[in-house]
Order: sequence, then structure tokens, then C-alpha cells
Amino acid sequence: MKCPTCQKGKMEKRKDLMEQDGIEFEAYKCSACGEEIMDMKQLKVLAGKYRKLRHAKEVTFAQWGNSIAVRIPSNIVEEYNLSVGKHGIMTKDKEGIRIIPA
Ligand SMILES: [Zn+2]
Repeated sequence: MKCPTCQKGKMEKRKDLMEQDGIEFEAYKCSACGEEIMDMKQLKVLAGKYRKLRHAKEVTFAQWGNSIAVRIPSNIVEEYNLSVGKHGIMTKDKEGIRIIPA
């Protein structure tokens, strides 16, 4: 595919990062002028990531003895059927911490 903007470069599939949101996306980028174009599938994937980001909740860390506690909002408590004394599993990935209720 030739670049529709400069007509010189070749459009190559590559991954890039939205700096302010930290969202990774895939697009075609011109090897000559740097123009970026997305196809419908790539757009849909990116839109889905933004939708997910909008559902994100900000949490505040609190002190609990020598540990740090996170307050879980009541709608999430209900959605995942959480209660005091129940167990879950905490895992780490490159983006952060994930809690999976058991
Ligand atoms: Zn170009």
C-alpha cells in the first residue's frame, strides 16, 4: 500500500502509543512522511480500549497496619459478589495489579 498523503512512502503496519492515555494501538504508518492511517478493524480495537478506559475508576490507597488498603466501590462489590472474609487472588502484570475474586 502506497501512502495517500505523500505518494512516496510505503504504509507499514506498526504498533504505537497514545502518549497521554498510555493506550497502545496498531495502525499503518508511512515510511516517508509518518502519516498514520487505521483500517476499520484497527479503529474498532482502539475504540474498545477507550470504552474500557472510561469505565475505569480512580482508587485511593489507605494505610492498614503496615500494608496499603484499596477501597472497592460498592457497585463493584455487588457486581463481583464480594464480602468481608472472602478470598481472592492478586496478580501483577506490566500495567498494574489485578484482583481476581475466588
Ligand atoms: Zn507518506
